[in-house]
Amino acid sequence: MRDKCIALLKQRGVEIDDIIDITMLLQQPYIENLKREEVHENLMEILSKREVYHAVYTGIAIDISVDEGTFFDEKIRGIIKDDYGLYGVDEVLAYSICNIYGSIALTNFGYVDKLKPGIIQVINDDLTQCNTFLDDIVGALAAAAASRVAHSHRKEIKEEVLGRKKERAKRR
Ligand code: MG
Repeated sequence: MRDKCIALLKQRGVEIDDIIDITMLLQQPYIENLKREEVHENLMEILSKREVYHAVYTGIAIDISVDEGTFFDEKIRGIIKDDYGLYGVDEVLAYSICNIYGSIALTNFGYVDKLKPGIIQVINDDLTQCNTFLDDIVGALAAAAASRVAHSHRKEIKEEVLGRKKERAKRR
């Protein structure tokens, strides 16, 4: 299922490397020597989880059915196609991925949603296909990987945050 998931993301224009880019952006400020390989490993673990690939598949299936015109309800189809701001089901589906990985994943998901780094902006600007669910899924996968990486670097992060606090205190 994991490989099918990766293939499906690729088919919709998202490479694993694009997701790693976002996770690196999120975690590099905290973990100095973070390697792409480590993020890759974490991402592979995440994509191997049943709840995760079900969410990825479901979201992308909705985008595809909107593109193909097979989504059964015209009104909802229009809402998804236009990425109507108050729809929100796309974000909620993606939350289900973040929920598994705790609060770091959830806060990073919100941050990525606002910032729209890298591939997320590209997906957002792409008018050739419906990406209403895809952008949130990509953000959630990157955020989940950030959280998983953070938890495996607990000690370093604690020291980094403490160091910053001391720096700020000194400046005051
Ligand atoms: Mg969306």
